[in-house]
Amino acid sequence: MRSLGGRTVDLLIIGGGIIGAGIARDAALRGLSVALVEQDDFASGTTSRPTRLIHGGLRYLELFDFALVRSDMREREILLRIAPHLVFPLPFLLPLYRPSLWYQAKLRIGMQLYDILSLDKSLPRRKWLGRGETLAAEPALDADGLQGAWRFYDAQVPLVERLVVENVVDAAAHGALVLNHARANSYLRDRDRVSGALVLDRMAGVELALRARLTVNATGPWLDRTIAPLRVGAKPLLRLTKGIHIVTPRATQQAHVLFARRDGRLFFVVPWLDATIVGTTDTDYDGDPADAAATEEDVRYLQEEARRAFPNAPFGEIFFTWAGVRALVREEGVSEGEVSRKHALYDHEARDRVAGVLSVVGGKITAYRAIAEEVTDLVARKLGRERRSGTPDPESRASSTADALLPGADGSRARDIAALAAGDPSLAAPLCPHHHGVAAEIVHAVRHEWALTIGDALLRRTALGLAPCQGLDCIDAVAALMGRLLDWDDERRAREVAAYCREVEPMRRFSAT
Ligand SMILES: Cc1cc2nc3c(=O)[nH]c(=O)nc-3n(C[C@H](O)[C@H](O)[C@H](O)COP(=O)(O)OP(=O)(O)OC[C@H]3O[C@@H](n4cnc5c(N)ncnc54)[C@H](O)[C@@H]3O)c2cc1C
Repeated sequence: MRSLGGRTVDLLIIGGGIIGAGIARDAALRGLSVALVEQDDFASGTTSRPTRLIHGGLRYLELFDFALVRSDMREREILLRIAPHLVFPLPFLLPLYRPSLWYQAKLRIGMQLYDILSLDKSLPRRKWLGRGETLAAEPALDADGLQGAWRFYDAQVPLVERLVVENVVDAAAHGALVLNHARANSYLRDRDRVSGALVLDRMAGVELALRARLTVNATGPWLDRTIAPLRVGAKPLLRLTKGIHIVTPRATQQAHVLFARRDGRLFFVVPWLDATIVGTTDTDYDGDPADAAATEEDVRYLQEEARRAFPNAPFGEIFFTWAGVRALVREEGVSEGEVSRKHALYDHEARDRVAGVLSVVGGKITAYRAIAEEVTDLVARKLGRERRSGTPDPESRASSTADALLPGADGSRARDIAALAAGDPSLAAPLCPHHHGVAAEIVHAVRHEWALTIGDALLRRTALGLAPCQGLDCIDAVAALMGRLLDWDDERRAREVAAYCREVEPMRRFSAT
């Protein structure tokens, strides 16, 4: 599988986050020949560091971005339908404390609009809860001055990493060549046309010339770096802002939308797996996205605000943190929080006189399928190979169910894992005292999902690395198992363990254990 050199594909996608994975799947389903390269692991970038919500975003109503909210609501419905094993309805409370009349009216209108813009939804409508009902639903809330709360529904994708992996798995099942740990180092050029890329396979240590009729950059916050050779001296397309989350013991029964007292910013407290996520922050960032990490100031801000809302909840104990970098379409003269989350499609032929290459600027996880469809429509048009997307939009429910659903939705992964465990009882046992994940999941990840490092297996194929100990308590057992599958000798095993410890170190700087 790791030999791509010498072939010309219709489409090369650089970047294996949710956007690149979505494009790979859509294009492969339409019958295009596709290659996807990811410098690190699938979903290792911004995509594994979000609030994990599939939402229209109440905040965007304040910015009067109704079209964005409407289209995200439509996508929320689609994802609930095509990935019901990964995307779940999530009720939120939005509590109100001594609100002014103006503020009450504003929120009421916002809630009405949120319902109107998702008129075709399957989720329940908003409801006002009085003070007593609110406290019964969430006893941990600060009761002082509480008037009541709006309850409304959005959706959560607790394991967004798996959403990416399943897009990649399905793309590969439809013929795509996929390579993780493979960085596009430079473009291949035929005069004013990009004709692919030179890709360094970091595992094999070899460089491949990967020829393509069209190349798409889906490199998220790395975009200005990856397109620098195409637009020498030009202004950056992106504004980067960092957002962090803290993961704490389970602190609340419900998910909450709250407003920070310090600066009025909106933030979330959300039940996640067996824990709680608090986030996020929003500060300008100009380093390498791979180096983003939570600072003491970031953590203190979230802890203080969460404690104000839930005075007795356990926000003092932090399991781990994550920090992601938003890639926002650059707009001059606006503050971090006001920059639109709308994506843009950038055709370098029209703008930079370099043909054969497109770039995706910005975007949200919620919108990934629609963005992938838009990109692939343009790609197919440019290649003269127009065909409808097989990932469904609400109007095209006629698409075949097999194409519409993501692979895990029919239980095929669970069946494979169960069969592995049935064939070898040692694979049926949990690996870690703190997590129910079994050894067979790791075997499946290595054999069928390109897990090549311990981080790939623990953080982005299974949820073992998302338990409070992040798999460090069973690291030797994991390394031994992966070593057997991937032929690691003692020295390589020790290197892989050290690499995993380095990978999670930035997440554990504030951990109690
Ligand atoms: C704090 C925070 C909270 C968020 N919360 C939400 C939310 O709740 N809901 C929501 O819908 N959205 C949310 N988002 C937005 C969402 O996470 C991003 O829009 C989305 O993950 C971007 O995906 P992507 O594929 O464009 O980028 P990425 O996931 O960053 O993927 C880009 C990939 O390109 C790879 N790459 C870079 N250079 C190269 C190269 N030369 N060769 C090969 N590969 C390369 C990188 O390694 C990376 O994996 C949030 C974002 C942040 C930062």
